[in-house]
Amino acid sequence: MNSSEHILLNSKLRPTAMRILIFSFLRKHRQALTITDIESEFQKVSRSTVLRTIKTFEKKGLIHAIIDDSKYLKYALNDPNQPEHQNHLHLNCLSCNHTYCMYNYTLPQISIPPRYHVKTTQILVKGICDICQIK
Ligand SMILES: [Zn+2]
Ligand SMILES: [Zn+2]
Repeated sequence: MNSSEHILLNSKLRPTAMRILIFSFLRKHRQALTITDIESEFQKVSRSTVLRTIKTFEKKGLIHAIIDDSKYLKYALNDPNQPEHQNHLHLNCLSCNHTYCMYNYTLPQISIPPRYHVKTTQILVKGICDICQIK
């Protein structure tokens, strides 16, 4: 597996200690994380630093934002195998409230009136995640 440092360098990002820490933290989790989740892991780091780092990752196509029905945006890694195709389903678990990327499950083509233009599409599936099912 590539190191976080290597992935950052590949995306033409200077692998600062902060970027490596935050990126590795995102990689460690299967579920998408909020800014608050990240911030509470690194208590000496200001919220604005976390936010800035996350925005940089997003701009470089390393991560994407997910809207579920919690109040906050969540972030997860892009699929390294197909970074150009982030149109995958998301599952929000009704039991643990985590949201997971279903990378191999792509979205159906959605048709909308021609006067509108689609930029991104998100579909949120509500269900029970694999971990909660064995609890
Ligand atoms: Zn769950
Ligand atoms: Zn996703």
